[in-house]
Amino acid sequence: MANDAPTVDYRALLEEEKRDLEAKLQELGLGGPGLTYDSNFADSSQVTAERGEVEALAAKLRDTLEEVEQALDKLGEGTYGACEGCRQPIDPVRLEAMPATRYCINCASKH
Ligand SMILES: [Zn+2]
Repeated sequence: MANDAPTVDYRALLEEEKRDLEAKLQELGLGGPGLTYDSNFADSSQVTAERGEVEALAAKLRDTLEEVEQALDKLGEGTYGACEGCRQPIDPVRLEAMPATRYCINCASKH
């Protein structure tokens, strides 16, 4: 690579985050593909509310997992660390804190 050697092992950070997210999804009982609900069980408003929370959390975890996987793909392609908004390199401090981020701090504040 033409860039300076990274001081941080982003792949290790991303893989750790990926494992963490997958474990959390599994804890929710939603590790498998897709969510299937039996509408016959949706007869209690409390159950429905709890299910809604779990669903929202799972959706968020899956979004993050997708970003982590995309970041890992980019590492493989050698395009990791470039902002998807302005194509400028993302601040390494930001990458270290949020290895799956797709935008530099300037672009992130616009989104
Ligand atoms: Zn940017």
